[in-house]
Formats: sequence, C-alpha cells, structure tokens
Amino acid sequence: MRNYRVTGPVEVPDGTLAAMTTRMISHRSDGFRDLFGGIAPRLGALFGTAGTVLPLTCSGTGGLEAVAASLLRPGDRVLSVQLGYFGERFAEIAEHHGAVVDVLAAPWGQVVDTALITERLAAGYDAVLLTHNETSTGVVAPLRAWAQAIRAVSDCLILVDVVSSLAAVEIGFDELGLDAAVGVTQKALACPPGLSLVAVSERALARAAEPGEGSYYLSLARAAEHARAGTTTYTPALSVLYALDTALAAIEKEGVEAVWERHARTARRCRDALRARGLVVVPDEAHSSPTVTAVRLPAGGAVRVREALAAEHDTWVSSGRGPWKDEVLRIGHMGPVEPAGVDACAAAIAACLDGSAGGPAAGAPPAAGAALDVRGTDGADGLG
Ligand code: PLP
Repeated sequence: MRNYRVTGPVEVPDGTLAAMTTRMISHRSDGFRDLFGGIAPRLGALFGTAGTVLPLTCSGTGGLEAVAASLLRPGDRVLSVQLGYFGERFAEIAEHHGAVVDVLAAPWGQVVDTALITERLAAGYDAVLLTHNETSTGVVAPLRAWAQAIRAVSDCLILVDVVSSLAAVEIGFDELGLDAAVGVTQKALACPPGLSLVAVSERALARAAEPGEGSYYLSLARAAEHARAGTTTYTPALSVLYALDTALAAIEKEGVEAVWERHARTARRCRDALRARGLVVVPDEAHSSPTVTAVRLPAGGAVRVREALAAEHDTWVSSGRGPWKDEVLRIGHMGPVEPAGVDACAAAIAACLDGSAGGPAAGAPPAAGAALDVRGTDGADGLG
C-alpha cells in the first residue's frame, strides 16, 4: 500500500471520500442550511472560537487573500513575521493589496524571538502577519507566546496562517485575541482541497464592512452576511462540504484534544525514527512541527532519494523548497496517520541512502542564510 507522506493534499480516508458522492442540492435550500449550519459552529472548536468561521470556496492562498483584501487598506502598516516560504507569500499578498509591509524573518529552520516582535511593534503597526506552522521548514511557531506578547503592547490586527496547523495543533483564537486565522480542508482535516476556512473576530468583521474592501469574490463582509442566513455568498464546493462534515464527525468521535495529542505523538515518533537511523531533523526539538518533519540528507541526495522512495518503496514525501531542494525532504504526518506509516517512511529513507549514498546523513542543519529567496522554484510536485 502506498505510504503517502506528502505535506498536502494528504491521503483522504475512504469514508470521507465516499461522502463526496452525495447528491447535489441547491445552496439556497433548507437541506443546505442544515448542512452548513451543522458545520460552521463545529469548526469553531478547532479554532478555539465561539465566533464566526467562514468556509470560502478557494485554497488556502485564497483565504489569505480574503483576509488581506477585507481587513487591510492601502497604506496600512503591516509587520510580517516570517519563518519561511509561506510567511513570505502572506506578505506578498498584503503588499499586493496596498499595505506597506516590513519584514521580520528568521533564518530557515528557526523561529523569530518574541522580544524582537514586540520591539518592532513599538514603531506602530495596523496589523501583524504570523504563520503558525511553516510547512516549508517544518517549524511550529510559539503562537501563544507571540500573541500574548503582541497583545500586551499593541492593539493591531493579528492575522494568522494556520493552514498546516488547523485540526492538528491548538490555536486558541478567542483566548489569544486573534483577528483572523486561515485554514484549509486538505491538510490535517484530511479532506480533499477546495475550501479555505477563515475564523474572524468581531472587530475584524466590523473592519471588513467598512468602505474600501479590496475583493468582490473574496469579501469577508459578504461571506459573513450570507453565513448569518445559513448559506454562502456564491456556489460553494458542495462535495468538499460533505467531506468536511464527515471528517469533523471523525475528529469529534476521537476528541479534539486527543487529535492534537496524537499529532504531537506521531511527529515525535517520526523524529525519533529518523534520528535512530542517524538522520538529522532540521528544526530543534522545541520548534519541530507536529504536522511536517524536515529531514536533512547528505548534499546532493534529497532529489534522488525522493525519486527512489517513490519508485522502490511506494513512499511519497515532499521535496525541500528553494535552496533546500536537494538537502531536505519534508515528511507530512497530518490527519489520521498510522504510527507505522512514519516508521516505514524513516526506514525507507535510510534504505535508499544505504543503497547508494554511502550511509545516512550526519552533520549540521543546512545553511539558512540565503534561504529566503525561494520564489519561482516550484518545479516538482509535493511542494505544499
Ligand atoms: N500557508 C501554508 C502554511 C501552506 O502550507 C500552504 C500550502 O501548502 C499555503 C499557505 C497555501 O495553501 P494553498 O496551496 O491551499 O493555496
């Protein structure tokens, strides 16, 4: 059986796939209002909010754009805290919508110090952009510490990419005073792609309703207005909503906290299995992601090993991005992953290395210095 350990879209359980064959209904019907009304509040448990969560028909990037277009206005001062490729993308989107963006970036594989963020915020910003889990580096940010420190010094909007943490890591949206958080269906929720799930605070919704909203299709104000009437602004990805309904039921059956713990446990097991074979996990233990493990291979090895994993072991992982392309592989462990899946993945990587690269990798994590210039490098698959 294939061991599909990419960073998304992830393997979808059969029951969730089967739900997608449910018959179509109008999104203005009572049946839809039942479906939609059942899903939206349950998503709140994953975000940690009693407020609004809006399913938008688009991928995660669309959700990030909805947030930037609806909550930022040209000339707004924005601080972008970046841990890698996706933090950079969020900043580009904000810039595209006219925000004036300052960047605070960590070297790849590391996090930004909380104190540095609060120091920079003293200059006065309208919004700060954060990435909870940086899929490109396998780093999870100390979101709680960051948000609490930010709230202690600033009233700015806190806008967070939770694309690869939602349904795998606690977010605490209300408790931390976040203003928007953007997740997706195709990662830890283990659904097909097609929906971005956007949590929004009351004050963010008020802001979205002010004049100057920058997108017609991705308007959060319109989406919220329609959600209050139990529907979506435009035709939704209905089949993905059916899948999401089923996926949420599975999470509820296991228990949300149990799901978070399981992700942490599986990730630890993955790191242990790699280290037991002499391989180097890139981020330090405290910042290693519960959903993505970045593992360093000997120079020149990652592209070849990834091909051998697929051809010889039916094992699929994601490549490194940009300058990490041939040094790093990224193993995804989001959704209902069997522990045996990560064990087998680590064993297969070691077997590929033993086969032709003179033994497992060792040494320091890859150089991070120039790693932020990664635009235009999406050549291979498995780059999410
Ligand atoms: N943000 C993060 C952290 C991601 O991992 C991804 C995709 O992998 C995105 C944003 C973009 O999401 P999408 O590809 O659904 O547009």
